[in-house]
Amino acid sequence: QTFMLGKKHNQTKLQVLKDVSFTVEKGDIMAITGRSGSGKSTLLNLIGGFMKPSGGQIFINNQNVSEFNEGEFSDFRLQHIGFIFQNFQLITSMTAYENVELPLVLKGVPETQRNELVINTLAKVGLADYQNHYPSELSGGQQQRVSIARALIIEPPIILADEPTGSLDSETEQDVLAFIQQLNRDYGITFLIITHDEEVAQIGNKQIHLHDGKIVKEELAR
Ligand code: ATP
Ligand code: MG
Repeated sequence: QTFMLGKKHNQTKLQVLKDVSFTVEKGDIMAITGRSGSGKSTLLNLIGGFMKPSGGQIFINNQNVSEFNEGEFSDFRLQHIGFIFQNFQLITSMTAYENVELPLVLKGVPETQRNELVINTLAKVGLADYQNHYPSELSGGQQQRVSIARALIIEPPIILADEPTGSLDSETEQDVLAFIQQLNRDYGITFLIITHDEEVAQIGNKQIHLHDGKIVKEELAR
């Protein structure tokens, strides 16, 4: 599976990404770094189908996903992509348990199979005791871990993560990074991870660095 992405500018006429083009192979962990405002979240939102590129193309599994409409992208995402948002995007009216369960419900996994998966995944991110808490009753780091669990539960072939450990203490960060590496190693899950933390970037076997919407540094096959 490969991605290639051209450029994008939005309604404000500000061109945020300029001729960004790169390829990710199955099983890669690609770290994306860059200063605040350099276009990292925009890039991930384009690949995840939450924004439309104004130019260029995005291929995932040899499919040109940049031509998908919203419904097609929703279906595609459920099968192929887990997304961890920079601002978590949890559903406030749902408990931690229900937030994590949601992708399974949407995917049509029978209720009898859902319970064990949800409990196990919440335990992996250290939230076994918080399943009945609503997002407003959780700390920032706990909300972040719910959003990580929600992305990982369907074990999608690709996970896009925007500062997945940005709100975590260093010990919890190590747990989450170990979980990511385990999923990568055991299931060949491909990760694109945005981070401003050099230590987090080290788990990547590839790295791109964005500056003003351009790739200025590319380190491959470390
Ligand atoms: P950070 O590290 O602070 O999260 P980032 O690299 O993720 O930064 P982006 O969120 O991709 O940066 O934003 C890149 C640029 O695009 C910024 O100048 C921002 O103001 C602009 N931008 C982002 N989203 C939009 C939008 N929906 N409409 C207009 N401009 C936007
Ligand atoms: Mg961002």
